[in-house]
Formats: sequence, C-alpha cells, structure tokens
Amino acid sequence: IPKLELVSLAKEYNDGAVVAVDGIDLCVAPGETIALLGPSGCGKSTTLNMIVGLEAPTSGDIHIDGQSIVNIPPGKRNVGLVFQDYAVFPSMTVRQNLAFGLVVRKAAKDDIDRAVDEVAELLGMGGRLHVRARDLGGSEMQRVAIGRTLVTKPAVLLLDEPLSNLEAAARLTMRRELRRLQSEIGLTIIYVTHDQIEALSLADRIAVMHAGKILQVEKTSVICERP
Ligand code: ADP
Ligand code: ADP
Repeated sequence: IPKLELVSLAKEYNDGAVVAVDGIDLCVAPGETIALLGPSGCGKSTTLNMIVGLEAPTSGDIHIDGQSIVNIPPGKRNVGLVFQDYAVFPSMTVRQNLAFGLVVRKAAKDDIDRAVDEVAELLGMGGRLHVRARDLGGSEMQRVAIGRTLVTKPAVLLLDEPLSNLEAAARLTMRRELRRLQSEIGLTIIYVTHDQIEALSLADRIAVMHAGKILQVEKTSVICERP
C-alpha cells in the first residue's frame, strides 16, 4: 500500500488570474483515508484532477512512495478516480460496465472476467452482473462506478463527492459499504466532500480546504466519535 504526498502543489488558470490550488502540502499515509472538506470552488476537484493526471500542476509535485508521478501519463499512474456523476453507461450491463477499464487497456479476457467477478463479489453485485445499468437503483449505480475504478487495481483511490447524488437512505447504506471496503482492501484514499458528517464518518483525518489552501488537518478521532 503506497504513501501519497502533495508537495507545494499549485494550479493557476488564466495566466494566474485564478489560483485554484494555492500551494498545498499533504501526506496521506499507506492505507489512510483523508477527507478534503471545503465549500464549492475551494480547489478540491482541481487537486484530484492533478493527482489522477487530468490537469498538470502549475508548480509543486506529487509523490507516490517517494517517486514523482507528474510526468507519468494518467493511465499509468496507478491512481483511480471515481467521479461525482457516475459515468456509468446506462445501456451496458453491470458486467460490461465493470469490464470497461480493462477492455480499453486490452487485458486478456480471462483476466477481465476474473477481475470483474472479484470486484462484483466485493461490492455485493455478484448477482446483478447481467442487469443493464439503467435498471439499477442509485446506490447500485454508485457501486458500479466505484467497481469500474477498482477493477484496474489502483493503489490510490480518489473519490469526488461520491455520495452527493444519492438519497439520504442510500447515502447511509453506501457510507457503511465504503467503510467495509476500506477495511477489506486497504487502499490509500482521498475523499472529497463538502459534507462534514460524511468526512467524519469515513476519514481518518480531515483536511479543511478554503480558497485553494489547506487550513488545517485534524484526526477525526480527536474531533468526535464516528457517527
Ligand atoms: P471545488 O472542487 O472545491 O468545487 P474546483 O477545484 O472545481 O473547486 O475549482 C477551484 C477554483 O478554480 C474555482 O474558482 C473554479 O472556478 C476554478 N476553476 C476550475 N477549473 C477551472 C478552469 N478550467 N478554468 C478556470 N478556472 C477554473
Ligand atoms: P466541481 O465543483 O465538482 O469541480 P464545477 O461545476 O466547479 O464542479 O466544475 C465542473 C468543470 O468545469 C470542471 O472540469 C472544472 O475544471 C471546470 N470549471 C470550473 N470553473 C471553471 C471556470 N471558471 N472556467 C472554466 N472551467 C471551469
């Protein structure tokens, strides 16, 4: 399980007119979940996009196990990003959706089937592999979105407001589900949210972001008991 480090990481847009991320330092320990908590526009998504490789930093560095990854192309970084809106293909089955990331990487069919079965089992979707995504409920859809990322076996998992499109009941179920996943697969996770309860319930530490900066990092165990 790797360690992830952000070193004076910054991103400007429009020749510096917009400072989206303003030199942040953060060290995520192996197997740790850190929540990035902050209001809309504070730079959370930009931070994740730089880690996964969708955006290049203006300055600073990103290390996985001490190695800089900023020059490694997105598909080869071993970092998985789960988007806010599911990015699940509605007319494809659960199996096809889960297999997608491996099919585009041209993995062997046997390997794909094995990886998909394993992830489906892990997510409690083993009996739903032939259902079309459009016929799934909200939390099942979210499981598929997470599963699509997990099949590629990322060492670092980034979750961008993964529960924000769910109804309250489904959100509770998925919070429990995510906690189980954390303990079963032991990934290093950054979890972006603007919801304090979610951050408290899922993260080991919370990094509070505001206007492109990390204001403070606290252990959730210090703040309160897990809700
Ligand atoms: P959050 O995820 O916390 O809502 P973002 O990372 O999306 O915040 O955005 C941080 C800031 O950067 C915002 O002010 C946003 O408007 C700006 N921003 C994000 N992407 C771009 C872009 N491609 N061009 C210009 N400004 C951007
Ligand atoms: P989030 O808060 O989840 O980042 P946004 O609605 O802020 O969602 O941004 C959606 C997309 O628009 C992102 O890809 C972001 O990079 C881009 N974006 C955000 N703000 C701006 C902006 N001021 N100019 C150009 N692109 C932007």
